Amino acid sequence: MTLQNIISNHFSLSQESLNDVIRYINNPINISDYNIIEEQPNRRLILDINEDIFIPYCEDYKLFSQLFKEEIEKYNITYNNYKTNKIKIEKNDFKLFKFLEKINKINILNKYNNNINISISNSKLEQLITSDMMLEINEFKNKLNQIIKIKSTKNNNLKFVISRNYNDFFLSATNQKFTSCLDLNSINFENANWIGLPSLFTDNNRAICYITDNTKVNYYDIESLKMYSRSWLLLTDTNEINIANIYPSSTLENYYQVIIETIFNKKTFIGNKQNTKSKYPIKPIWLENNILCNIYQDSSKLEFINNDLYHNFSEKGFSKINKNNEEYDLEEIQFNGSLNYLISKNKSILEYKDIVICKECNSEENVLKRELSDTYLCENCYKKDFDYCSVCGNEILLIDAKVIQIDDEYYCEKCSKKYLS
Ligand SMILES: [Zn+2]
Ligand SMILES: [Zn+2]
Repeated sequence: MTLQNIISNHFSLSQESLNDVIRYINNPINISDYNIIEEQPNRRLILDINEDIFIPYCEDYKLFSQLFKEEIEKYNITYNNYKTNKIKIEKNDFKLFKFLEKINKINILNKYNNNINISISNSKLEQLITSDMMLEINEFKNKLNQIIKIKSTKNNNLKFVISRNYNDFFLSATNQKFTSCLDLNSINFENANWIGLPSLFTDNNRAICYITDNTKVNYYDIESLKMYSRSWLLLTDTNEINIANIYPSSTLENYYQVIIETIFNKKTFIGNKQNTKSKYPIKPIWLENNILCNIYQDSSKLEFINNDLYHNFSEKGFSKINKNNEEYDLEEIQFNGSLNYLISKNKSILEYKDIVICKECNSEENVLKRELSDTYLCENCYKKDFDYCSVCGNEILLIDAKVIQIDDEYYCEKCSKKYLS
């Protein structure tokens, strides 16, 4: 199923807006401010990045730093040592992992031999090892191998991408290394914020930038790249570029700013800015029920100015605008399921706006928002973990140690103290 099919069948866009979106998908408009991106294959400018910037997202290195905390301190092991598997100790070159293995053997040997201080240069090391020691040595080896395995399968070819590719817009939070309210698989967000994704295509101010290892992610027939970190760019009428919140964390803020400022030769700002609006008006995309189709904006709010729609950077959030330019109730688009669910049912989102789906089993029967867990669960799934106190009727969590069960009746802590003692 292509991007066009999915949007046509499941996003409940008005006919006119659907035509607009399809026209943009088939004939993307080249924005001169983004020329450097537009002229690239797939509208993606791909830049090499210094890998050290990536350390905070490097799972294997995180694991390594936890396991070898003492050794890292003692031998001054750096990320570069780790990456290249090389270390110099007292003018001798070692393979880092072999070295750590050896160090561990010596530590174990010393422990079992009351610290007689066996040194690393002892050539009879292996002969001293007993089967007890072997157990510990193997345990260590397994941990090390676990890390080496992740490290070796990892693609170290990291890139910084600035893109106007609509697949990247559409999958900006789906099957990625982080999640947000734009995740199409998400069943946590009551108002299905991903409903606004098609409106991103007709926003000529917009680009996306992200760090990727160049591996692919797919959603049906839509293909994008694995994003480890990402943000949106928006052109402003002050000839700057607004950088929205960086997911999953703001640690790389400066890095993003430097790259964007260098590539586009424009100043950037993160977050709100008074008296600033987007450079270009946005083609509004409407849902069938005459509600503006849009996403939550981290650094702007959509607003009609003289009948044209713009980002206003002095505010942020979700813009609840209907065709009469009035505010509407969020219940108008309330849906707590995933896009996959709509696809499986062959329904569009507004056909499902009054139906809530169990987060555990996808059932549509007897689903209620459960206070204790703050999730939508059907009666069956709810009963697995929750019940009501037989005396006061309050909801109780069954795994709570203070809940008392007698026969089939449950008693909350308060009532059990009061009536059962
Ligand atoms: Zn259920
Ligand atoms: Zn009670």
